[in-house]
Amino acid sequence: MFASLSDRLTSTFKNLRSKGRLSEADIDATIREIRRALLDADVAVSVVRDFTGAVRERALSAEVSGALNPAQQVVKIVHDELVTVLGGTARPLQRAKTGPTVIMLAGLQGAGKTTLAGKLAVHLREQGHTPMLIAADLQRPNAVQQLKIVGERAGVPVYAPHPGNQGEGATPGLSAGDPVAIARAGYETAKARQHDTVIVDTAGRLGVDAELMEQAADIRDAVSPHEILFVIDAMIGQDAVATARAFADGVGFTGVVLSKLDGDARGGAALSVAKVTGQPILFASTGENLTDFEVFHPDRMANRILDMGDVLTLIEQAEKVFDQQEAERMAQKVADGQDFTLADFLSQMQQLKNMGSMKKMLGMLPGMGQMREALDNFDEREVNRIEAIIQSMTPAERDNPKVINGSRRARIARGSGTTVQEINQLLQRFEAAQKMMKQMAKAGPGVGGGMPTM
Ligand code: GDP
Repeated sequence: MFASLSDRLTSTFKNLRSKGRLSEADIDATIREIRRALLDADVAVSVVRDFTGAVRERALSAEVSGALNPAQQVVKIVHDELVTVLGGTARPLQRAKTGPTVIMLAGLQGAGKTTLAGKLAVHLREQGHTPMLIAADLQRPNAVQQLKIVGERAGVPVYAPHPGNQGEGATPGLSAGDPVAIARAGYETAKARQHDTVIVDTAGRLGVDAELMEQAADIRDAVSPHEILFVIDAMIGQDAVATARAFADGVGFTGVVLSKLDGDARGGAALSVAKVTGQPILFASTGENLTDFEVFHPDRMANRILDMGDVLTLIEQAEKVFDQQEAERMAQKVADGQDFTLADFLSQMQQLKNMGSMKKMLGMLPGMGQMREALDNFDEREVNRIEAIIQSMTPAERDNPKVINGSRRARIARGSGTTVQEINQLLQRFEAAQKMMKQMAKAGPGVGGGMPTM
């Protein structure tokens, strides 16, 4: 995400760094570059104007001319202003004082609402909440079924109309085709079953239209949401602003969710929507899996855009999936000077895979922008291959790879659908990792538990 914007901005600053003092002409040239980069990233013209205006004013002030390192100061200003444009500080979801908290999702069809409902449910459950999903999107034929699947994957119940309004979840006297009634009945059911949160999925159209807005407003009035989250596909570029405005006027919303930030999004929507609507971006969706979801932090996002890395998010993701006991076991092993085995290697690899897309993860490290090409060439299937290879070994071979001779290599290659050459490469890499582990053990305690594989 933001790859090309990020590249453009960092190269602009690189030029600036080669200069000691900055003249007004230097600053204007920089502002021009920033303006072009933002416009090319599909940021709304009004936002670009305000942004560059604010940066220019501060860059020409004593704040920069008096600074020890003027170029660095300009970068800091751009960073500050990016944080402001992205909405300042992150805020948590507003919750009901009594009864279920109601979160309603609104947005165009295909924006990613249904997927988000599942992600949000998982996120809330991890925080100890007890969400229930309500399928009030009766427009698209498959929407109800899709939400049921999402609910199942997320492990949360779904309140959905049944064909002919029969069976579990059916409500006497309720037409299966009335989304407002479904939303209301769903809320009552959640309340009776003591769920502390309901997430209401609503219908979207391919374009903004009056009927859609009216229906969303009716659902809103029926369930009085504590949060209305406007879900917007980050890929839609310049249309983002008009769409956001239409929803702000038609239904109103209290927060924004950016979806599909994993794609080739140029970032325009992200950088325009909060500013234009005055509502904060609360979450970001970054893929099709339920774990591809982040709480949105404007400062961290600004760091990523300026290629300063987002180590905090990386650590949070790591904490979520890493098996603490396993990590401690590994650290102990290293400290004790025990051998690091292929089984350990595999276990670490599997944890890494849990962390979701490797590329996404590596992209959060500072300075990774320059390695983007290498990252783009990184093949995640490589991890699957390694897994297959190690799983095709016998326990004895995993414990002592030295016994893996030519005929065993051929057998493992057959078993894992790989080649002997790939087995050789893996064993070489493993040996290097093992050596590194030994060195870490020598370096003493407190250094263990790392990941020598990548
Ligand atoms: P809805 O019509 O607003 O409910 O949108 P859906 O949740 O059905 O999403 C539309 C399509 O976008 C589906 O194919 C999803 O798998 C996909 N999608 C949703 N969120 C993301 C995301 O963050 N990244 C990517 N790459 N795809 C997504």
